[in-house]
Amino acid sequence: MILGLFSPGSKQSEKKQKNKAVAQSEPCFSIADSVTIGKETYAVRFEHSRNRNASARLRDGAITISIPSRWPKSERERVARNLLSRSIKSIELGKWNPEQEKRVSFHDGQHLTAMGQEFDISMKEGKRFRAKTKMNRIEISFADHPKKDEKISSLVRREITKAIDSHLKKRVHELNEQHFQAPIRKIAIRDSISRWGSCSRDSSISLNFRLLFMPDEILDYVIIHELAHTRYRGHGPRFWALVERAIPNHKERRAWLKKNGWRYPEKGAVKAPEQETQETLIEFLHEPDETDSY
Ligand SMILES: [Zn+2]
Repeated sequence: MILGLFSPGSKQSEKKQKNKAVAQSEPCFSIADSVTIGKETYAVRFEHSRNRNASARLRDGAITISIPSRWPKSERERVARNLLSRSIKSIELGKWNPEQEKRVSFHDGQHLTAMGQEFDISMKEGKRFRAKTKMNRIEISFADHPKKDEKISSLVRREITKAIDSHLKKRVHELNEQHFQAPIRKIAIRDSISRWGSCSRDSSISLNFRLLFMPDEILDYVIIHELAHTRYRGHGPRFWALVERAIPNHKERRAWLKKNGWRYPEKGAVKAPEQETQETLIEFLHEPDETDSY
């Protein structure tokens, strides 16, 4: 059950929009400021971003729709409506689970394999936050802090990223040499909650931290996908033809990623879980004519 969707905002939302309009010195969309789906009511928030893509996310009971401020107003409104209706549909179908928005977290005694390299994580309480890696053992000491878990996660990520960085770069360069021979500026690993990878206009490539724990062919697929964006920005037929030339079974790999990707690294890079998984946020990334994210 959806209330107020696509109807001009209620009095309350008009007032809010007016406030926002003053703050941003431009009018906002007249779209509902909340929707009720089943028994839950979700606040709907709009924000203008400097990103190149529009996105929708569900967090703390609110749907936040982020639209690039550089787009013309009519396009921003059209995309906002579209993203909102897709968000609602996915919540209704139980396909959009806020749990998936969590960043990668780790625990004491965890064993992980990243690009074939083994890691054991040990954690103990200390006076401050510190990490060191000896051989394959990542030792974390942590202190009491309201953001303790986040701090621990970022330390572990940093240690694994440091250890894997050269392997990953080598792999990107190998695949680039083999298929594209594109000039690449930078390769970065990010713990993104919305993207598997991206390729900027100046050919800087970023890859999702979770990919490091997945089977090689999945990581390769995302690398190839981003490298192909150095030739074509969008996801048109010529882009996919290029991907297909490098990876003929890319559709299978995409399907695998969509089904299993957000469970990693928790499940470790062992095999694809058989259970049906949730649809992911990546589905919500709106791709305008020129885009670079995947
Ligand atoms: Zn892409």
